[in-house]
Amino acid sequence: MIKTPIHITVWNEFRHEQSNDLVKAIYPEGIHIAIANTLGHRLGPTVTVRTATLDEPEHGLSDEAMEQTDVLIWWGHIAHHEVSDDIVEKLHNRVLEGLGLVVLHSGHLSKIFTKLMGTGCHLRWREAAEMERIWCIHPGHPITDGLGHYFELPQTEAYGELFDVPPPDELIFISWFEGGEVFRSGCCWIRGKGRIFYFRPGHETYPIYHDANVQRILVNAVQYVNSPSTTPYFTSGRHVPDPPSPIHGH
Ligand code: ZN
Repeated sequence: MIKTPIHITVWNEFRHEQSNDLVKAIYPEGIHIAIANTLGHRLGPTVTVRTATLDEPEHGLSDEAMEQTDVLIWWGHIAHHEVSDDIVEKLHNRVLEGLGLVVLHSGHLSKIFTKLMGTGCHLRWREAAEMERIWCIHPGHPITDGLGHYFELPQTEAYGELFDVPPPDELIFISWFEGGEVFRSGCCWIRGKGRIFYFRPGHETYPIYHDANVQRILVNAVQYVNSPSTTPYFTSGRHVPDPPSPIHGH
């Protein structure tokens, strides 16, 4: 049973936009507002969208706010260490209980993503304003709905393998860069009941979130990671009595 509306929280550390004029020119209100506007505009009454940022009380991620969130989008880069461990622990449990999580670009080193992956999550990178060609290698997957065989971003920061994550449960996109790198740019995992989607593009000095294909992927992704399951999930163990022995029981 699909729950509507989907309640989305778009989280951004919101630091580059306040200190870097180039980033401010691309995202005058912040990356979170640009993404929230895209989702609200494209998905209309099927979603509610709120935003949250690092410097708000509890990073805008209070228990009340998270109880009313079905899907969390995460953009962070220079301030991962400032995110409270207590809040990360709560978010981790919420993912296991079914919160959908979309982690963007440099969020690969966020506390919540590395905790869910259990590996270093490091990668290679190069800021060279090169073209990125993003190949859709899972054309039947809901996240690729409406895309062609590939699309291109004219200028991006390059990421390269090895991307130190566990093998994804579903690999959706592979990127190729002019400098020769390849990268697993769209990966899905399931942790507990929660669906996780990592999407690579999104460096703050390029207008990546204004790109129509990227916007389409974000729209598809929030619908995909939203879990329709109402099956109970326990985040701690439950003891049950031993069943009667098949030999001596009655
Ligand atoms: Zn970047």
